[in-house]
Amino acid sequence: MANDYDIGIAGGGLAGLCLSLLAADAGYSVALFEKEQYPFHKVCGEYISYESYDFVMLLGLPLADMNLPEIKHLQVSDMNGRLYDFKLDTGGFGISRYTIDNMLYQLALRAGVAVYTEEKVTDIHFEHNNHIIQTNKRKLTATIAAGAYGKRSNLDIKWKRSFAEKKPDKLNNYIGVKYHVRADFPKSHIALHNFKNGYCGISAVEDDTYCLCYLTTADNLSANTGSIQKMQENVLYRNPVLKKLFTESEFLYDAPLTISQISFDKKTQVENHILMLGDAAGMITPLCGNGMSMAMHAAKLAFNEMHGLLERKISRVEMESGYTAAWRKQFAVRLATGRLVQRLMGSNSTAFVLKLLHGFPFLGKIFIRATHGKRF
Ligand SMILES: Cc1cc2nc3c(=O)[nH]c(=O)nc-3n(C[C@H](O)[C@H](O)[C@H](O)COP(=O)(O)OP(=O)(O)OC[C@H]3O[C@@H](n4cnc5c(N)ncnc54)[C@H](O)[C@@H]3O)c2cc1C
Repeated sequence: MANDYDIGIAGGGLAGLCLSLLAADAGYSVALFEKEQYPFHKVCGEYISYESYDFVMLLGLPLADMNLPEIKHLQVSDMNGRLYDFKLDTGGFGISRYTIDNMLYQLALRAGVAVYTEEKVTDIHFEHNNHIIQTNKRKLTATIAAGAYGKRSNLDIKWKRSFAEKKPDKLNNYIGVKYHVRADFPKSHIALHNFKNGYCGISAVEDDTYCLCYLTTADNLSANTGSIQKMQENVLYRNPVLKKLFTESEFLYDAPLTISQISFDKKTQVENHILMLGDAAGMITPLCGNGMSMAMHAAKLAFNEMHGLLERKISRVEMESGYTAAWRKQFAVRLATGRLVQRLMGSNSTAFVLKLLHGFPFLGKIFIRATHGKRF
């Protein structure tokens, strides 16, 4: 029996939307499920490395006409507020997730993708060489299924993925907090300010707005009776640069957007014949500023393999092993380097590491090369 769709995708963030566009543009039938309704805000630093710029333009987003902030300089402060400046060779641009995800969604609709919004995938079964996708509203079939549902979802728990079963430790129990603000800060810069057990980034997005977003441990929040405001005042404000930023900026939301249980542990790239992309395949630490480009790049790698299967040029086994190999070649070192540096940030070693990187700029370049890829 013919399937309802060639490709079914769980999750409509950057990875899922980009994959849906590549597949629809190549003439395949695609169903994409997103549990939220576009447009919506997401916890993310909203700095996109230039490596994905050409790819996003090719998908049809007119980035060059949008007058977006171009970011070429990095400023980092240690926990005492001492500032260090670095030049970013590749650099990036700023755009909110509210805008970019929604624009890709509009493109997907125009390309003929069947986008089911406010629809949560509750399970995907593999039977008789096909996938049965179950949502809270319907059941349908697809020849290929992709898991592009982000850092952690109901499906990770359902499928008992090993990272979701681990006890809380240093690499798997972070929280993220995000605001949009108006601030006195150069649009050509991104800053990363350290505080005890965390770091906070600021960079410009569209419409003279800035994204102010931080990552810290769940322990930091519990030590402040679960109050974000208290944690900011007791922990973040000890860095004088952050205190100034938080007390002098104009906050554009009533309350921050938050997420919890962020894990940087290793994940699998194929789970029960489902190709995993973006954060669902492995999450790079946000300080690398590269997760979004990697999610989009993974969509391209996955589509190359899916195309091979749908054209009957390769088998399912070859599609799965080809994708895993391509993913690891492209991203494994970047994730490992990110995990290593994550341990140094927001710790007592931060000031020493920053002095070292500033004194020996080639070390900074090595770090950036190890966490970034070429334009794709
Ligand atoms: C604090 C913080 C700051 C960051 N800053 C940056 C940065 O500045 N630059 C950068 O490049 N990266 C940054 N990142 C990383 C970046 O946000 C991610 O790497 C990127 O969003 C991954 O895209 P994705 O498509 O895999 O997942 P997402 O964008 O998270 O999309 C997944 C989608 O799946 C949906 N979903 C989940 N479960 C289901 C389900 N069962 N059914 C249907 N839909 C479902 C969700 O609603 C979501 O829309 C940051 C991350 C954090 C936590």
